[in-house]
Amino acid sequence: MKKIQMVDLKGQYEKIKDTVNSAFSEVLDTTAFINGPEVQQFQKELENYLDVKHVIPCANGTDALQIAMMGLGLKPGDEVITADFTFAATVEVIALLQLTPVLVDVEPDTFNIDPEAIKRAITPKTKAIVPVHLFGQTANMDAIMEIANEHDLFVIEDNAQAIGSNYHFKDGTTKKAGAIGHAASTSFFPSKNLGCYGDGGAIFTNDDDLAHTIRGIVNHGMYERYHHDVVGVNSRLDSLQAAVLRAKLPHLDTYNEARQNAARKYSEALKDVEEITVPYTESTEDTHVYHQYTIKIANGKRDALAKYLSEKGIPFGIYYPIPLHNQKAYKDGRYEEEDFPVTNQLVKEVISLPMHTELDEEQISYITGSIKEFFNQ
Ligand SMILES: *Cc1c(COP(=O)(O)O)cnc(C)c1O
Repeated sequence: MKKIQMVDLKGQYEKIKDTVNSAFSEVLDTTAFINGPEVQQFQKELENYLDVKHVIPCANGTDALQIAMMGLGLKPGDEVITADFTFAATVEVIALLQLTPVLVDVEPDTFNIDPEAIKRAITPKTKAIVPVHLFGQTANMDAIMEIANEHDLFVIEDNAQAIGSNYHFKDGTTKKAGAIGHAASTSFFPSKNLGCYGDGGAIFTNDDDLAHTIRGIVNHGMYERYHHDVVGVNSRLDSLQAAVLRAKLPHLDTYNEARQNAARKYSEALKDVEEITVPYTESTEDTHVYHQYTIKIANGKRDALAKYLSEKGIPFGIYYPIPLHNQKAYKDGRYEEEDFPVTNQLVKEVISLPMHTELDEEQISYITGSIKEFFNQ
């Protein structure tokens, strides 16, 4: 059996090596390292894939979130509602811009932001909601867009983990995650579903004016060379990364299907183990692209299982071990522990199993077999 890895970037690279290497050589030959033709072409190809009017590439997913908030004109003191159960980048940029992060609880089955909790957190200062499509599953965008419309709020989707997933609206229409809110951000960090070989990110929007504003912000606030109309940042996707992304984008659906297949096999093998709750998917399966395959372990057995997996040579992840509202940097006197019953429980129960495009049958049955062995089944 091949050694089991949490993420297998090497195995994936081997299969597209020729394309990537020749695209790299081409960039090296032209020396158009920043904003070269590769970046422009990737941008267009991703716009087509997502069916979104504007993709603005930038340096990473954290910048993408920050720039989206700057572009929307959010001001110090504005309140931004986001999930307590997410990676810190989401709340970090809110705080960095001196906006006020308002953390709310998530749903126990999807781990995504709870629309009812959003409603309870709205005040006259609330300006935006940042749903995170956690672990690859699109949040409840029907409810979130409805709340946003009613209260005149911006929605910025943090789509770092769910590129390629679909959302099916109640009215029967379908959109790609990231093409729904006023703006969205994504990350091309190597281990993400569409990852490059360094750092990268992008902002998406269907709003022409916002896209124009953001294109200036990513480039030092310049709309005309050496005219700085707004305070901007320096956040660019380089051409080598764009070349990798162009080589991988045509495979994104196949990559996500490989993840969905692995998830299906895991769930089939584990669904009858009493202490395990396998991932729940809303409506159909294409709403989840399994950036992580995360299960819940009941009866306080998570840590013992983790130890057992280590002994068996099976890597795992605990995403995330501490709720954001309990992190030193983001503590706030307004929060009460009773506001976060779900997150407080999830941090004790979740464990993520190896998930990538190269997992094979033998590895999956070794992993699920070992887990069943732990539970004596
Ligand atoms: C990875 C990630 C980010 C940040 O992306 P970077 O490219 O690493 O800056 C933001 N939000 C979520 C939910 C992420 O998973």
